Amino acid sequence: MAFPLQGDDTCQSIAPTPLPEPYWVGFSSSLGRELGIALNESKLPADPLWLSVLSGNALANKEHIFSNPIATAYSGHQFGIWAGQLGDGRAILLGDIGPYEIQLKGSGITRYSRMGDGRAVLRSSIREFLGSEAMHALGVPTSRALAVTGSKKPVMRETLETAAVCTRLAPSFLRVGHFEHFAAARQTERLQQLADYLLDIHYQECRDSDDPYLSLFSAMSRRSAELVAHWQSVGFCHGVLNSDNISVLGLTIDYGPFGMMDRFQMDHICNHSDSQGRYAYHNQPQIMHWNMACLAGGMLPLLEKRYSTEEAQQKLQTALEQFPTQYREAWLQRFRAKLGLLEEHANDFELIENLLQLMHQSRVDFTITFRLFAQVQAQADYQSNPLRDHFIDRQAFDAWMQSYLDRLKLEQRSDLSRQNAILNTNPKFVLRNYLAQHAILLAQQDDFSEIQKLLQILENPYAEQPEHEAYSAPPPKELEDIVLSCSS
Ligand code: AMP
Ligand code: MG
Repeated sequence: MAFPLQGDDTCQSIAPTPLPEPYWVGFSSSLGRELGIALNESKLPADPLWLSVLSGNALANKEHIFSNPIATAYSGHQFGIWAGQLGDGRAILLGDIGPYEIQLKGSGITRYSRMGDGRAVLRSSIREFLGSEAMHALGVPTSRALAVTGSKKPVMRETLETAAVCTRLAPSFLRVGHFEHFAAARQTERLQQLADYLLDIHYQECRDSDDPYLSLFSAMSRRSAELVAHWQSVGFCHGVLNSDNISVLGLTIDYGPFGMMDRFQMDHICNHSDSQGRYAYHNQPQIMHWNMACLAGGMLPLLEKRYSTEEAQQKLQTALEQFPTQYREAWLQRFRAKLGLLEEHANDFELIENLLQLMHQSRVDFTITFRLFAQVQAQADYQSNPLRDHFIDRQAFDAWMQSYLDRLKLEQRSDLSRQNAILNTNPKFVLRNYLAQHAILLAQQDDFSEIQKLLQILENPYAEQPEHEAYSAPPPKELEDIVLSCSS
């Protein structure tokens, strides 16, 4: 824990800019409890000091819980192009809390703000808050979100909006961009400090290898491959997979114009600013691989201390080439589980791909379709299958279903056991854009109840929760294509 580097070239000591007259917009009581924060009957922190701390006002008020906040320098590739120095332009790392680092996003200008105002608006802060907690509940590795505080302070985007601060937590916020930054600056000592810190704290299993730095690279790349397979399996599109938004711990970070897919479309683009579809759903694995190549470039100077440049490049290249296989294995594991398959058979890849093709052609709802697999009975006539009505090409669907039923015969598993496993793997509730949007519209009118309600539902995504049935529904037609851009 704690940012491992010191010195002016790596970070800036900076207090958050106070947020005028802050109020609670959202608070995760489950995470608060986990951190030992005492709560009142409204499930908010009992001590008013927390509102002050989490809106960035505590230092100005001389309330020292976290006394040495910093913003860190990193660089990165944005949309495939080297962007040079970026850094925490609106995030300030307060310090440590429990097993996490605690960061305020939207808490004012830092040395790295460039042309930005250091702020975040209410809508994007609510999306990050709900998005990260929902992903955590799904079991996807992610930064967490403890709270959102709001203010009437105006913030200019395409229109005039208001400011908010999202408190996010992660064991470390180190990014691929941190490595790229110090590699570009030829500061090998800094790179070594970063890598040693990761080996000591987050990748201890690599410490004793013959070549710890190479091992570290392989482990980071593997975690990233597993992460992106996990994303694909829940229909998550990140939206801005720039190398400065890629965690070196294999966590989902920097929630911007992300989206959970409603209707399944392989080449779905969730970020309106991504006109080329660089970060479309089906491109995410390849893009993550590309980001791992950026990480390899960032770690090259470390390996050059031990090997010739050619040898170092060769070693990193060999490690990098593992990515597609690791991804494919992780993807197969995830999708087999989604279909309730325990065993591994040679044709599973084809079986799953064919299903996704059919889902794409019929633009079926991703979440609902997989959940319906819990109703499939191995012996039943597939024409009576509840899934069938969702597909346009019934003949193709029937053929596929027959191959799935044949595949089920190879499993030593009862219907009941498979069905339960499917219900615990395929969520009923995900943060659909239209649900988030509804909560945001109410919050913009100072009604924050829907945020808490959504949070509570999304904390148990696999439970039936019949009283909240409506929250599992696909979007009404007019809310199918909510446009999200990078503006936040
Ligand atoms: P993002 O696309 O949100 O990951 O941001 C890319 C870079 O721009 C990061 O260095 C951010 O810190 C910075 N940035 C984004 N929005 C702002 C803002 N409103 N003020 C200052 N910096 C910002
Ligand atoms: Mg970012």
